[in-house]
Amino acid sequence: MPVVEIKNLNKSFGSTHVLRGIDFTVEQGEVVCVIGPSGSGKSTLLRCVNLLEVPQEGQVFVRGEEITDPDCHLDAARSQIGMVFQQFNLFPHLNVLANCTVAQTTVLKRKADEAEKIARSNLERVGLHDKITAYPAQLSGGQQQRVAIARALSMDPTLMLFDEPTSALDPELVGEVLTVMRKLALDGMTMLVVTHEMAFAREVADRVVFMDAGVIVEQGTPDEVIGNPQQERTKTFLRRVL
Ligand code: ADP
Ligand code: MG
Repeated sequence: MPVVEIKNLNKSFGSTHVLRGIDFTVEQGEVVCVIGPSGSGKSTLLRCVNLLEVPQEGQVFVRGEEITDPDCHLDAARSQIGMVFQQFNLFPHLNVLANCTVAQTTVLKRKADEAEKIARSNLERVGLHDKITAYPAQLSGGQQQRVAIARALSMDPTLMLFDEPTSALDPELVGEVLTVMRKLALDGMTMLVVTHEMAFAREVADRVVFMDAGVIVEQGTPDEVIGNPQQERTKTFLRRVL
């Protein structure tokens, strides 16, 4: 069973038809990178996967459960999906450890000591075990993004969504975040990543999806889509970013 299955997804904002009949699946353990021009609907697609945006038409299944069904227990479905945003979205008034425990205790009802143990192990995983008492404002952007990843991992997600996780970072901080993501991919995490980091997509993705104007124009292995694109729109985009 795929981790995510999307059927005929259509999303409009007012009269702007942003997603135009997207069909798409992500299999267990797969790393899928979504690339495409600004405004093509990449973020909206990601946000429909956990119903941060509600589509007008189509279905989204997460591990076989239709989350677009009005009767779906959305909180339970959502708690399986970790999301990492361009703007880290950490809680500024909580220290690093508390950022990684709060949803565990409130949403998953874990006991404080268990939540803390899990948070510590994920902060170790992203190389920030020595920063647990720091507040977000005391950290670099790269460190903050790694906390955001540890926070998402602490919920034991089935799937991790990343929306341009390195786009807000100074260039010298991009590498440390990509290193953490690469490690996650090697650990077998199922990942859907919107990114402009073509070298990362080429190296880490099992599949690359190129979107333009609300449709999937082409998809395939990185060698196919980035190395040997078939569609004119893909070629034009890659000429601009490579
Ligand atoms: P991308 O992530 O590929 O840059 P987005 O999914 O953010 O693209 O946006 C696709 C289109 O939808 C853009 O034209 C954008 O202006 C529009 N859009 C996105 N979110 C909203 C919103 N909340 N309200 C109105 N328009 C939106
Ligand atoms: Mg976007």
